Amino acid sequence: MTPGPRGEESAPLEAWDRAHVWHPFTPHSVYADEDPLMVVAAEGCELIDADGKRYLDGVSSIWCANLGHRRPELDAALAEQAGRVAHATFLGSASEPGVVLAKRLAEAAPGDLTRVFYSDDGSTAVEAALKIAVQFQQQTGAPERDTFLTLGNAYHGDTVGAVSLGGIPLFHERYRAVVFETAEVAPPACYRCPWEKDPATCSMECVDGFRAALAAHGPRLAAVVLESGFQGAGGIVPLPEGYLAAVTLAAQEAGALVILDEVASGMGRTGQLFACEAEGVEPDLLCLAKGLTGGMLPLAATLATERVFEAFLGPPEEGRTFFHGHTFTGNALGSAVALAVLDVLEDGGVLEGVAERAGWLAGRLEELIGLPGVGDVRRHGLMAGVELVADRDTREPYPPEERRGMAVCSVAREHGVFLRPLGDVIVLCPPLTISEEDIGRLVDAVAAGVREVCADGV
Ligand code: PMP
Repeated sequence: MTPGPRGEESAPLEAWDRAHVWHPFTPHSVYADEDPLMVVAAEGCELIDADGKRYLDGVSSIWCANLGHRRPELDAALAEQAGRVAHATFLGSASEPGVVLAKRLAEAAPGDLTRVFYSDDGSTAVEAALKIAVQFQQQTGAPERDTFLTLGNAYHGDTVGAVSLGGIPLFHERYRAVVFETAEVAPPACYRCPWEKDPATCSMECVDGFRAALAAHGPRLAAVVLESGFQGAGGIVPLPEGYLAAVTLAAQEAGALVILDEVASGMGRTGQLFACEAEGVEPDLLCLAKGLTGGMLPLAATLATERVFEAFLGPPEEGRTFFHGHTFTGNALGSAVALAVLDVLEDGGVLEGVAERAGWLAGRLEELIGLPGVGDVRRHGLMAGVELVADRDTREPYPPEERRGMAVCSVAREHGVFLRPLGDVIVLCPPLTISEEDIGRLVDAVAAGVREVCADGV
């Protein structure tokens, strides 16, 4: 369907959507009333709806369309690969783009991450990492290491293993009966510091807290699992500088593997290909998805060190094999697109440009600080969160039923910007290629929304 005025083409789409689709993370009792976007096309940083209206994609279609939409190099790579082979199994055999991509990722990755295990999305990349960690410990003489240390407020996906690692009550609490236990430590969250410290004067009590958790649980840990760079779904909460390096080192010294979840923060979002590079961190396992294909196709990768991989070697009858894998593992279309993504990021100068764009964003975000209703503005690379609160002095949240975050995004839509909040945190996650003018458009739309929706704020 081509974009055009709302008419016979779009009317049935909306009816069919209401009648037949069950949307993720969507309360259907209010869905239709909130005027959902019906995308029929996209171009660059813009989505085009069934009425032909254009919206700046302010969240990169949930943090994945890092190069915008219809990027010619990616479209060409997809078409070219489709003309060869779309998919051939990776179970016990190989196909070209997946092999080349593994080599490219291993060359680019920090430390000794030499092996690439493919899956389909962020959740499955994390699931693979979990199972690899447990089996690694069993096969290296530490079968008692069968649990994980995770951060409160963490989000690692929606499959049951990933939910087990999660620490967001709204998303995770309901499933406690069917998930496995983990040890959890309070996260570093400077706006709502669990240690009630001021980041300007604190002594990184969060690192001490992590070390205390390691002391309590260390010998039982298969791995520590962390979102690298920032906690995403928990409200875009950047890790304080130095935290990742300190806790990674402490965990590895305690004999636990370190699994870094870079599903949201990897592939350039923070200005480097891998978020952990900023602190010279070398994890044992690293999970990528979302931006790996520039948001075009579901493809994920769990990178592992050679040491981890070697623990799975041995005669087949010893059963050291990793018996795990999905039908579309190593998908050729996704891998071909991911190779084009790497080309554009690395050789096309996009990665280099992220710091400058992040600076533009930081500058414009300052305009939001001090607006009634804005409690905190936080940013890491080209990812930002604007937290709305009922009272800026006490940091008291708005009653969730007021859905202020959604209301701000609705106003932003009227200003031609598509956003999706996390509760009362407005997320700004534009394509890494966004222009300075569009950054202005993005922040102006958020400001307009906040002014209208939080006019009663203090
Ligand atoms: N880990 C992180 C850090 C994420 O942000 C997400 C998704 N937002 C996931 C894992 C899960 O990825 P997916 O939705 O592709 O399964």
